[in-house]
Amino acid sequence: MNDILPADAPLWELFENTVQSVLKSYGYQQIRTPIVEETALFARGLGAVTDIVEKEMYSFEDSLNGDNLTLRPECTAGVVRSVLEHNLTYDGPKRLWYTGPMFRHERPQRGRYRQFHQVGAEAVGFAGPDIDAELIMLCQRLWDDLGLTGVRLELNSIGNAEERHRHRADLIAYFERHHELLDGDAQRRLHSNPLRILDTKNPAMQEMVNAAPKLIDYLDAESLAHFEGVQKILRHNSIPYTVNPRLVRGMDYYNRTVFEWVSDELGAQGTVCGGGRYDPLVGMFGGKFTPACGFAMGVERLIELMRASGEPMQQSQCDVYLVHQGEAAQMQAFVLAERLRDAGLSVVLHCAADGAGGSFKSQMKRADGSGAGYAIILGEDEVAAGEASIKALRADSMENNQQRVAFDGVVDYLVDQMIGGDEHDCDCCG
Ligand code: ATP
Ligand code: MG
Repeated sequence: MNDILPADAPLWELFENTVQSVLKSYGYQQIRTPIVEETALFARGLGAVTDIVEKEMYSFEDSLNGDNLTLRPECTAGVVRSVLEHNLTYDGPKRLWYTGPMFRHERPQRGRYRQFHQVGAEAVGFAGPDIDAELIMLCQRLWDDLGLTGVRLELNSIGNAEERHRHRADLIAYFERHHELLDGDAQRRLHSNPLRILDTKNPAMQEMVNAAPKLIDYLDAESLAHFEGVQKILRHNSIPYTVNPRLVRGMDYYNRTVFEWVSDELGAQGTVCGGGRYDPLVGMFGGKFTPACGFAMGVERLIELMRASGEPMQQSQCDVYLVHQGEAAQMQAFVLAERLRDAGLSVVLHCAADGAGGSFKSQMKRADGSGAGYAIILGEDEVAAGEASIKALRADSMENNQQRVAFDGVVDYLVDQMIGGDEHDCDCCG
């Protein structure tokens, strides 16, 4: 678990604002579910033999009433619970999104944290391939808006339970025929999770694995048509993708479309977003059959990509830093700071660490360090004259470095300066 420090706040803010506006532009509505849910929800929703449920959950017994609770390792289960509990789909399908911390007790390593953040979308009540394609295109738009270029799409269809069942039987038989080539890991998984053997990184097994029965050859006409429907929309909208027949997802509830967005710039943990269709899940939770599709993206991994791709972000704490000396000036400084905030500026009013005023020099040092464009100085002189001194802290933010301005004219003066400054910074004037 790690702290996200103020130095990184601008990146997080940019990410959060961008993702929020992209989701809004597709008509998705935010849902906020609790971080703590009943443990049974995840055991039922994710499948008892998934990595998450077997060994990654922070589960505990509430000592006050004996409830078995878990810090959510993902949010789809919670969203589906909430949709059912509040009958959210009573008047038709819903496009939902969420953001927040998730918790998994994994081995700490680059790109893998025990508390991490996801943004996800869930389109609940939609059966067709159109919504799968929409979710994928929404992601593509987000990468574009964030300026991330190296994120590629891998796509697959894992069919339905019956198709997977037939494939699984043939796959096990195939691996048994090549038993002498299976490593220890593969032998262990042979009967519990043979699909995962296809994921092996063992070079000695590659050739054998490549020739194994492919799930796609077991899909019936309906599943194939759905898969082709997704691809047709992606092709029509020039969204590049590769079909990866080995792509499977960790959770049991997925069916048909599965996809991952992958970057090569993150080392071993290159998947920034994973998603797919989960038609059976609502039914597994006791609701009536409600097809659905969604994705979840890892915010930390995306922030790392943003950091690598963009220019370092400007990090000024405020527009204006207010320096003052003496009690009368301090009183005026409070009034002025509020007026400036009314006008939409961000203002830091100097407060000394030691509770006393602090020398003029030390205050100016703070003003410089804040990254503000301007310092306003209220000393005894200024107060006596009913004025304020305004000092441009960046060389280009004012013609003359320092000006005396009537106290009541400070807000207008600064707003003018800042609008003028913005014009000066724009592309058209060079
Ligand atoms: P992985 O194969 O990396 O373990 P996963 O299949 O467990 O991923 P999902 O449950 O699909 O991941 O979560 C969606 C996304 O959330 C992942 O693609 C990843 O970007 C991010 N994510 C998952 N687990 C972590 C973690 N422990 N720390 C940081 N990000 C994570
Ligand atoms: Mg995982």
